[in-house]
Parts: sequence; C-alpha cells; structure tokens
Amino acid sequence: MKTVPYWLDTRPAFTSGAKEPIAGKADVVVIGGGFTGLSCALAVAKKGGDVVLLEADVVGGAASGRNGGQCNTGFFHDYAHAMKRLGRDAARQIYQSYNDAVDTVERIVREEGIDCSFRRVGKLKLAVSPAAFEKFKSSAELINREVDPDVYTVPGSQIHEEIGSDLFHGGMIYPKSAMLHVGRFTVGMAEAAARYGARIHEHTPVVGLTRLDARRYRVETQKGSVEANQVVIATGISAKGPFAYFRRRIVPVGSFVIATGRLDQATVDSVIPKHRTVSVARGLGHYYRISPDNRIIFGGRAQFAVSSPKVDVKGGAILLRSMREIHPQLRDVKIDYCWGGMIEVTRDRFARAGEYKGMYFSLGYSGSGVQEATHMGTILARMIDGEKEANPYRTLSWPPIPGHFGTPWFLPLVDVYYKVKEKFGR
Ligand SMILES: Cc1cc2nc3c(=O)[nH]c(=O)nc-3n(C[C@H](O)[C@H](O)[C@H](O)COP(=O)(O)OP(=O)(O)OC[C@H]3O[C@@H](n4cnc5c(N)ncnc54)[C@H](O)[C@@H]3O)c2cc1C
Repeated sequence: MKTVPYWLDTRPAFTSGAKEPIAGKADVVVIGGGFTGLSCALAVAKKGGDVVLLEADVVGGAASGRNGGQCNTGFFHDYAHAMKRLGRDAARQIYQSYNDAVDTVERIVREEGIDCSFRRVGKLKLAVSPAAFEKFKSSAELINREVDPDVYTVPGSQIHEEIGSDLFHGGMIYPKSAMLHVGRFTVGMAEAAARYGARIHEHTPVVGLTRLDARRYRVETQKGSVEANQVVIATGISAKGPFAYFRRRIVPVGSFVIATGRLDQATVDSVIPKHRTVSVARGLGHYYRISPDNRIIFGGRAQFAVSSPKVDVKGGAILLRSMREIHPQLRDVKIDYCWGGMIEVTRDRFARAGEYKGMYFSLGYSGSGVQEATHMGTILARMIDGEKEANPYRTLSWPPIPGHFGTPWFLPLVDVYYKVKEKFGR
C-alpha cells in the first residue's frame, strides 16, 4: 500500500516552473499554489497581468492534492441554519456561489483543455435514519423555494437504485455536482497559468512581508524578494510563514482517504450504480466516489488528529472498517493507497474572503473547497480589478477563535467528544 495520495501519484509532473531568480517587481504576487492560488494566478495572467506565484512546496501538493475529488454544488450546512446564521440574502449568495463554482471548474477545464476526467454525475447525500430523511425532505423543499430548484429527495423504497447498501433510509440528490481528477487539474491550471506568463516558483516559502504603502508589499523568501503592487494570500491552513492572523481563525483538522485497487465494472456499479459522489453525515462523516480507473476513493475524518504517515495509516484502517460495514460486497478488496490531509475549518464552517492590511485573501473552505477554492481564485482576480461586490463572503465578520493561538491543542478533546457522541448515537 502506498501512503501518497492517489491524485499525486497519478498526475503528470509540472514542467513549466519559473527559472529566473526571485527579484524585481510584479503586479500581483500570489502566495500559495493550491486551487485558490492557481486559479487566481491563471485568471490574472490570462488578462495580461504580470503575476508571480510563490509555493512553499509543490503546486497542488497540500489540501488541493489530498482531498476526495468531489466537486459538489450546494454547501455543507443545513439551509435553514445557514439562513438563520447569515440572513436570507447572504445564505442565497453563498449557496449560489457553490453552484457557480462547479461551472467555474468546468469552464477552466474546457478553456484550458485540461485532461482531468471532469464529469457532472450528481451528488447523493445519504440519510442514516428515518428522522434524517424527514429532515432531508424539509431541507430540499426550502432549498427549492429559496435558491435551487434542481435538488430532490429519493425515498428509502428507491434508495437501492442509488446505492448498494442496506443501511440507508433515503437520500438527497444535487444533480449538477461533479467529480474530477484533482491532481491532473492542479497541474493543468499551473501549466495554463505559466503559458499566459505567470512565473510559478515551487519550493519557495514566503518568510516575510514588509508593507511599502497601502497595497504594495515586499514579499520575502530565502531565495530573494519581490515587490508586489498587490498581494494575494491563498495559503490554506497557513501553517508556514507570517500568517499568524489567519492561523488564529482556522483550525486545521485531519481528514483521511483510502483508494481501493482497481475493481471490475460490475463491482463499482453495485456500490454506486449511477457513479455519483456520495456523502454520509454520520458521526465523523464519510465521502466517497469512483476514480477514473475504477477504484473506490473513500474518505472521512476517522479521528481528530494531525495528518502524518503514521496517523494516516491508522485513519486508513478505521476507514476500511467503515467502508466494509457500509458495503459488505467490498469486504475482500485490497487497498492500494492511504493518505491524509489537513482541512482548514473556520468556527462556523463558512469560508472567508476579503482584505487584510491591503492584501486580498480567500481561505477556510472547511472541507468543501475543490469547487469553491477554484471559484474564489477567480473572484480574487476580479476583486483586484475593483469588483469587490463579486465576493460572496464580503458581509461576514471573522473574529479569532477564542483559546486558539495557532496550534490546535484541543483536537484530542474534540476526538473524544465525537467518539462518545457516536457511541451513544446522538
Ligand atoms: C483529506 C481531505 C479531503 C477533502 N475532500 C474534499 C472534497 O472531496 N471536496 C471538496 O470540495 N473539498 C475537499 N477538501 C477540501 C479542499 O481540498 C480544500 O478546501 C482546498 O484544497 C483548499 O485549497 P487552497 O488552495 O485554499 O489550499 P491548499 O490546497 O492547502 O493550498 C495552499 C498552499 O499554500 C502553500 N503555502 C502555505 N504557506 C505558504 C508560505 N508561507 N509560502 C508559500 N506557500 C505557502 C501550501 O504549501 C499549499 O500548497 C478536502 C480536504 C482534505 C484535506
């Protein structure tokens, strides 16, 4: 079994990294080369802007290359809760931005000719109890009325048309959701941005930022510094560098994924007959789908811990047990890949985007960023052009998380809380 992400192991190398030294000036310096940073750099460069992207490691190597590959419409939150929390207009705007986000991914794939198996398959959310299905029905009605006429429910009597498991009491379908090979997508975006002139430097962590005036900064790395008319922060969990402000507002939570060996067509069809992306909101949550080469990619939080090779293997073993429990037809399949990554979770699990000390940022997608991070990168490019109202998160405040000073010391306690909750079925 390999302990690297399937997406990173099966993607082509990025071959168009910048060769020139880090020096001089740029219109825009983007910090971070995940979905957010790459799509922002691509959008700016495509409009003729002079852009430098600085990535601490390799493009798409953090959350953007370690996720479940689901590219879903709609957000994670219960819609009624979101309306109460955000107000009617902001809830609608943010939900709609997730729908627009899948269109953005599709557009980039088409315009740049990225070979990444993008498919609109629809998302299936599964109810683990009759009460959960009743909640789905009222939620679908509200979503239909407020924002999205396409969402619908499937009753327990028909659920076997959607899923090869006896554990579920119905489901909710988001028909415009999609899936893609995220490793090939990130490299495709990086190659496209470089083609339009973006200078992308891998293995170049930003270590310092010196403000020169309202917007201009000197961005410092150990290989040199560059002066930016505009800085964009796209650093995900922002673990490295001068980003303490963001670290106090984001909790990095481990999430873990396994990929089975290649399965025959009859087996994958028996698990997810319509090949949709699947999510199960039970305990620590599960999400799964079929890969382009017929593997089941099965993820979940599994445990509240920081991802590392040892922890990932432990998480993988927990996931394998869950996968077999849900789908006994997979009891003999072998696992080829097992990995983990860190999800950037905000306190209310809504992303944040805006301006901090003259720099633009978009962060904190809280586990639903394949589409939204890509989309927000393009929104950041529009904000640079003065279109601030394009930002769907512009009305959300973002105070620091009380008691959080940048390292998530409380995760083991949260783990115990969820295990007790699951054990007693609440
Ligand atoms: C295990 C897992 C499963 C997930 N599954 C899904 C899913 O199925 N569907 C979904 O929609 N979302 C999913 N997500 C969430 C999604 O992957 C993220 O929301 C998204 O990738 C965030 O993209 P990003 O560009 O903001 O951040 P990242 O991909 O984390 O990129 C940030 C980049 O910034 C770089 N960086 C940080 N500090 C510095 C510095 N000082 N200098 C230079 N560079 C720096 C990092 O190296 C990194 O490459 C999952 C996440 C995980 C971890």
